[in-house]
Amino acid sequence: MNVLKFGGTSVGSAENIKHVAELVMSRGRNIVVLSAMAGVTNTLVEITEYLYRGNKSAAKEVLSQLTAKYMNTIDNLIDDPQLHDEACERVMEHLNIIHNFATDSFTLYEEKEILARGELMSTAMMDCYLRQQGVKSVVLPALDYMRTDKTGEPDSAYIQKNLTKLLQVNPDADIYLTEGYICRNAYGDVDNLQRGGSDYTASLIGAAIRADEIQIWTDIDGMHNNDPRYVEGTEPVRELHFEEAAELAYFGAKILHPTCVLPAKYHNIPVRLLNTMMPDAPGTLIHHTPGDRTIKAVAAKDNITAIKIKSSRMLLAYGFMRKVFEIFESYRTPIDMVVTSEVGVSVTIDSGRNLEPIVDELRKLGSVTIDEDMVIICVVGDLEWSNTGLETMAMNALREIPVRMISYGGSNYNISFLVHKSDKVRALQALSDTLFPK
Ligand code: ADP
Ligand code: ASP
Ligand code: MG
Repeated sequence: MNVLKFGGTSVGSAENIKHVAELVMSRGRNIVVLSAMAGVTNTLVEITEYLYRGNKSAAKEVLSQLTAKYMNTIDNLIDDPQLHDEACERVMEHLNIIHNFATDSFTLYEEKEILARGELMSTAMMDCYLRQQGVKSVVLPALDYMRTDKTGEPDSAYIQKNLTKLLQVNPDADIYLTEGYICRNAYGDVDNLQRGGSDYTASLIGAAIRADEIQIWTDIDGMHNNDPRYVEGTEPVRELHFEEAAELAYFGAKILHPTCVLPAKYHNIPVRLLNTMMPDAPGTLIHHTPGDRTIKAVAAKDNITAIKIKSSRMLLAYGFMRKVFEIFESYRTPIDMVVTSEVGVSVTIDSGRNLEPIVDELRKLGSVTIDEDMVIICVVGDLEWSNTGLETMAMNALREIPVRMISYGGSNYNISFLVHKSDKVRALQALSDTLFPK
């Protein structure tokens, strides 16, 4: 059995939902994971922001537009009167839940409940449409099996046990449908796997059922060799190693959620990135590829802050690094890049959230310099250190761009460059021109 995940654009209109239905119907008995319609999770976030601020009328205005969008989609999707009414009823139930949360006390609990509605509504609509087409579709409610533990990590044993049970009691379905992104936390409250997390749902399911393949169906033909939102003429990469895909996802290739690769890699389940609108295009296959000594792709991660700590006390001393890292740990702030010299260390973090207290503490160790609005440009490929010339090529591409930090050798798969955000697009373009000439 395969897991097929369809993103927001793929289910973004009645026409697209019909197209996805055709596609999944022709592929046999699989588990289909659905996202919210494109833009809907952003709209739900907007509603929660109004409600946090107590602006109920603005929230209701946005909600009424959302209601019109769904009713219109159902009108265009389902002709059968009974199933049309069922779809309206199921979707309205979710919209009413949002409506009823427009009360005076609005907390994280209500926020999470609201954010979950997009995926629940997509699944309800697809279920009714598939049944209209004569397909025996069975919904596996994500809130009945997808759960995180007390540390916020997916509870794999719980997921596997409960998903298997749900599959066993519905053995004769043509297609299983389930909601991406949403889950319950360790206390049973509705929660989610973070923005873009439907990809993670797909790989967690894939791992739980030991799927033959995890397919991420989206609006582009696989992982491109550079970010198509900033660089023209990017091309799909046909094959990636799990580690290469993980680096690209973590460092900004939006097509894949950063956490999605790990469960698949752990169980050695291939992940295929495919284009819903061009189902026959080969896309990208992510698996354990043998090394091929090439650079595969480039990605960029925004909103990075670089922090340099310089101290003569670091010279020939031990324990200095530990003190630096402990400060970041105590503020639960992950570090992305690290470079060192004998008298200084530079690190990057991707959130300015605890910057002030962190810097205050770091100042006790030495002089501190901050560079904000930076971008990590990540060059990914088979960069095992004996493969000569690859890092030179990447550096040469950036010869005219000021580079604040370079990190190489941390893994066999990446070189990272830190540049200012005003040089991001120029750096991405220069790397494409040099590394992937036409
Ligand atoms: P979905 O809603 O299907 O999950 P996303 O918007 O999350 O889709 O991801 C697909 C988008 O990722 C593409 O439309 C593209 O703009 C963006 N993207 C960023 N970097 C890359 C890349 N290297 N290759 C392909 N797509 C990328
Ligand atoms: N709908 C959610 C989001 O927009 C999850 C996803 O699409 O993967 O973040
Ligand atoms: Mg996505």
